[in-house]
Amino acid sequence: MLASGSSGNAALLATENTRILVDAGLSMRELHKRLVSIGESLNSIDAILITHEHSDHVSGLAVLARNKGVRATIYMTRLTAPAIDWGATPPARLEPFQAGSCFQIGDIEVQSFGIPHDAIDPVGYCFEAEGIRIGVATDLGYVPESIKFHLRRTNVLLLEANHDLDMLKVGPYPWSVKQRVMSRVGHLSNLHVSDYLMQDLAPCTANLILGHLSEQNNHPAIVQLVAAEALERRGLETRLSIATQMTPSEVFQF
Ligand SMILES: [Zn+2]
Ligand SMILES: [Zn+2]
Repeated sequence: MLASGSSGNAALLATENTRILVDAGLSMRELHKRLVSIGESLNSIDAILITHEHSDHVSGLAVLARNKGVRATIYMTRLTAPAIDWGATPPARLEPFQAGSCFQIGDIEVQSFGIPHDAIDPVGYCFEAEGIRIGVATDLGYVPESIKFHLRRTNVLLLEANHDLDMLKVGPYPWSVKQRVMSRVGHLSNLHVSDYLMQDLAPCTANLILGHLSEQNNHPAIVQLVAAEALERRGLETRLSIATQMTPSEVFQF
């Protein structure tokens, strides 16, 4: 995870042959800096996959698309592409896909799936390569059965833990925004996460990364507490990490 939270999201997934960036919600300069800090570079990225058009997921995208040193093909759903402000020129290397479709990028198999969120055509992803399956599900109001199905066999799971309901209710957001965040097309609360871990988390998920934490309405210590308690009750040995906004996470290697 290069960054995770309401001010910017980006994650890198790599095999020996293929490098995929999931979301581009950091400036190109910041992305470059964080990639270099883990021994990677912008020009070696093969594909940029976008989940949805909210600025915390695409703020660096138009600049990346214009840069001659970046050769990545940009993947997003057919309906999301027109919602991006590309500036004067649309990107040369754009690969629109149908939400829910499966496709291959190098040696990584990609499965997209629709998620309940107030964007035009938001998706989550599962990635599979070398027998390892990684699930990415952030920015969703709840976890429908269809998503539980996709996340069943994941070895690594990035799941949203956006807000603590009590903090959100007494917090500084206007009531209309609070309602939006709490709605079925808003964001996952710590309580949603706890329910998911108690009822649905697959025992094969060895690494759980909780991310997209709200700076105003959540705290890593609360997320840690809630998740650790749920995992303990399940008797699972899942390794828990919390992704943050300011610094890249550790590198998960298989
Ligand atoms: Zn969003
Ligand atoms: Zn977001």
